Amino acid sequence: MAAQAVQWEHGLLQVRLPLPFALKTVNSYVFTEPAGGYTLIDPGLRTEETLAVWEAVFADHSIVPEQISRIVLTHQHPDHYGLAGYFAELSGAPVLMSRRAHRYVRHLWGEGSTMTGELAELFALHGMPQHYIDEISSNLSSFQEKVSPQPQQDQIRYIEAGETLELGGSQWELLDAPGHAYGQLCFYEANKKWMICGDQVLPRITPNISVVPGEEMNPLGDFLASLDRLSEYEVKRAFPGHYDSFTTFAGRIAEIKQHHVQRLEQMLLMLEEPLTGFEVCGRSFGARAQQSPHQHRFAMAETLAHLYELEQSGRISRTERAGVIYFLR
Ligand SMILES: [Zn+2]
Repeated sequence: MAAQAVQWEHGLLQVRLPLPFALKTVNSYVFTEPAGGYTLIDPGLRTEETLAVWEAVFADHSIVPEQISRIVLTHQHPDHYGLAGYFAELSGAPVLMSRRAHRYVRHLWGEGSTMTGELAELFALHGMPQHYIDEISSNLSSFQEKVSPQPQQDQIRYIEAGETLELGGSQWELLDAPGHAYGQLCFYEANKKWMICGDQVLPRITPNISVVPGEEMNPLGDFLASLDRLSEYEVKRAFPGHYDSFTTFAGRIAEIKQHHVQRLEQMLLMLEEPLTGFEVCGRSFGARAQQSPHQHRFAMAETLAHLYELEQSGRISRTERAGVIYFLR
């Protein structure tokens, strides 16, 4: 298997790892630390294919995985977090993530976790038929093995927005980037004007914005506000969680905002008649939504994020009939 890695200055290596989804790859970043050791950012989903790519990259770049000295997470989604515990166990390195991100992983994959059941209830409340909910629940459960083993509590070190983190001998400012994932952090290096932006700003696709049980209930509103804050940073090169690095950070933020404004307007037009979230999802995403349970969950939760934003801003309201919620202008 060909190793896919791009070497940047500052000892920064960008590694493209495979994903078994429509979204085919995820980026990991490795800093060679001047004092020795390596910092691994977002080590990828735990699959045989990912581990094979890591093996090739380690060989090509003479990296000894036992010398990984820190594992750092931009955010807690499985495609980024999955191998954190594996590499922590292999190297003894701590896993650095925000407290909020850690709360999410315990809620979704911890002992006695309740998030999958809560998501099923939420989707039923918004009119999704039970057979789709069952498919989505079992797909969600299938991720457990792709994030195992998880880091132990004593391997976790909390990092938070407002702090700085030294990576590759430079100081990186940690920025709060909610909406796609609460507790997500972007890393900004003010001298080079580089931004490691997780999934908050992506080229080619818009980040999924989902309503998630147990998290704040207006993720789209929080995401758009976060984009406004991020657009104040001068960025010469952005290193995203997916696809190539890019130099058009502010322009990309404007495009992503425009996409959501349009989608909000489209949904608002549909809601001249009362519709459930499931019905709005079908009309917005069509057959694409049902390509896989994974896609269906993203489409449904993203639809709800838009509907909740319309509701929060007073443009639509909800009524409940026979235990199902309908939205109307
Ligand atoms: Zn991602």
